[in-house]
Amino acid sequence: MCYAIPGKITGFQDKKVIIDYFGEKRYAHNDFVKVKTGDYIYAQGGFVINVVPEKEAREILEFWKETFFELRKVDLRLSKLEGKSGASKRTRAILDAALEGRKIKFEEYVHLLSLEDTEDKEYLYKVANFIRRKYHKNACCVHGIIEFSNHCSNNCLYCGIRKDNASLPRYRMTEAEILDTVKSAVDTYGFKALVLQSGEDPEYDVDRIAKLIKRIRTENDVLIFISVGEVGKTGLKKFYDAGARGTLIRFETSNENIYARLHPGDSLMRRMKEIEEAKKTGFLVLTGGLVGFPGQTDEDTVKDILNAAALAPEMYSFGPFIPHPQTPFAEKQSPPLDKILKTIALLRIADPMGKIVSTTALETLAPVEGRNRGFMAGANSMMLNLTPDNYRKHYQIYPGRIHENVSVDLQVREAVSDLRKLGRAPTDLGAGV
Ligand code: SAH
Repeated sequence: MCYAIPGKITGFQDKKVIIDYFGEKRYAHNDFVKVKTGDYIYAQGGFVINVVPEKEAREILEFWKETFFELRKVDLRLSKLEGKSGASKRTRAILDAALEGRKIKFEEYVHLLSLEDTEDKEYLYKVANFIRRKYHKNACCVHGIIEFSNHCSNNCLYCGIRKDNASLPRYRMTEAEILDTVKSAVDTYGFKALVLQSGEDPEYDVDRIAKLIKRIRTENDVLIFISVGEVGKTGLKKFYDAGARGTLIRFETSNENIYARLHPGDSLMRRMKEIEEAKKTGFLVLTGGLVGFPGQTDEDTVKDILNAAALAPEMYSFGPFIPHPQTPFAEKQSPPLDKILKTIALLRIADPMGKIVSTTALETLAPVEGRNRGFMAGANSMMLNLTPDNYRKHYQIYPGRIHENVSVDLQVREAVSDLRKLGRAPTDLGAGV
């Protein structure tokens, strides 16, 4: 199974290589490997990951050629904006402005996020999906995530792995277990980008993680994203020098008061500084927040969307808050599915160029249909859970996570089949335009 299409290097421009994919031109940084014109390579997130032997590349391209253009046709059909919409006049006026690339005002975003009428909502999703195709075609990014420790010294009020949840069995994967999991993800399933996530585990300090990243990078051709909470400027630099090129760090909410209430001893300012520092260090940043926190309003969520867009991240990750029974928020409610779909659609309007994840939490909220509906509302990325089965159920940030008992093999097969139905290629061209 392959999660990237090999591209052919046609030249160099400044510090970047120029890559050809079925006649389309892309650019990528080349930090890791020696390449020359004529080489076939895999790229992810704008970085060249490895050189592919010519024979292998040609075989894969041959396989992809027909499928690729067939999938594009399906996507084109599903993302057309045809027929007259029955949406209200105001909704149509705002969305028509979005289609023309005009700036949408704050109150207009709030209007869209609060839509209740079915025709209005459907038109919003259609417009977002149309914009997605216009800028990204049918490429879909498939990352894997490995949750290597559920120990956490923090006490975030909503999170099931918070320190005070004494009923949760705790685990910490060894370096050998993590390396094995990475190897199988890369060699068996063809993943090109992996996220390593954990709680804030004092046993896995910055130096230990940096050493691990270095080993992973030495032994595997893969783009590594780190998601271990706040590590400060020095910590980020160590991760970068070890070979990581991305971070996944949500700011959770951009409402300072809600942030302070939910995160004892932490502040929104600190979190935002960490994200900005990650960008300055050169990381690809994946960020976002939760939707449906107790006390959060539509205005708050619109601020979150605009706050995230102002960071110009590589990828947006916004999911629903889901109550965990062993937290102070046990009795609170999740938001309705539509609220998340509208958030995805608004992100697409706010930043047509960014990638947007259809999250596992969205799928958990609406099993079977959730992920695909996210894709039809503007999303174009997904993450599959590669945490070994015996640990996965204990990474319980919220209960009943959708892939808790689904093998990696089955997750991959289901993902590929879902994407095919939607005409999406389970691949990321992997390089900037
Ligand atoms: N220690 C890392 C990873 C935290 S867990 C960090 O600080 O970034 C990963 C994500 O799970 C969090 O960013 C949060 O958005 C999400 N999460 C936690 N509890 C949740 C809940 N009850 N419902 C939905 N998502 C939750």
